[in-house]
Amino acid sequence: MSRTGDLIQALAFAAAKHRDQRRKDVCASPYINHPIQLVDVLCNEAGVEDINVLRGAILHDTVEDTETTADELTQHFGQQICEIVLEVSDDANLCKADRKQEQINHAATLSDEAKLVKLADKICNLRDVADNPPAGWGIERRQEYFDWALAVIDGLRGIHPVLESIFDQAYARRPGQEEPGQPE
Ligand code: NDP
Ligand code: ZN
Repeated sequence: MSRTGDLIQALAFAAAKHRDQRRKDVCASPYINHPIQLVDVLCNEAGVEDINVLRGAILHDTVEDTETTADELTQHFGQQICEIVLEVSDDANLCKADRKQEQINHAATLSDEAKLVKLADKICNLRDVADNPPAGWGIERRQEYFDWALAVIDGLRGIHPVLESIFDQAYARRPGQEEPGQPE
């Protein structure tokens, strides 16, 4: 299969798996927009070309948020892509607070490929929290999300300066900060 075919295969698989899901913003955007945003950031903003990273990004929420199993991913996409997806998936046995702490604790131990996917995920989620936040999130909760995302990313820096700089630009829009260039 061609490189384009490889990407389309992952997109088709993720679109089918996420077909009944929506994001948490007030418009309830289609879930698949989010994995597409990750691969767009990686490919077109950061110049990442590693096909396993790009396919891993497209598939990154299939295990955590759908019924997709590791065996299924291995069967369709091979062991390396399955491992990338598992690395960026939270442990479903933990409570929400522990999952969040584990992401901070484990950021440094991720493979290089998983670090790139994690960076793209946090970039896209910070942009969403800034522009299309989950319904009902007040300023404190949005700020907490920014601070947690920064703590995760601070644990994996040194992997890709361009992507890290894109993350820092997203973080600079933390709610409650002065927008650059805005009059006082
Ligand atoms: P999360 O913080 O887990 O929700 C954010 C996640 O939802 C993102 O990481 C993203 O994950 C996904 N998501 C879907 N739509 C959007 C969107 N539009 N914008 C951004 N992210 C989106 O929320 P939970 O409700 O699961 O709560 C988890 C934690 O929040 C708990 O630890 C709890 O302690 C804390 N909490 C804080 C409160 C407060 O007021 N401060 C109140 C209640 C809970 P992905 O990319 O993986 O899909
Ligand atoms: Zn995600």
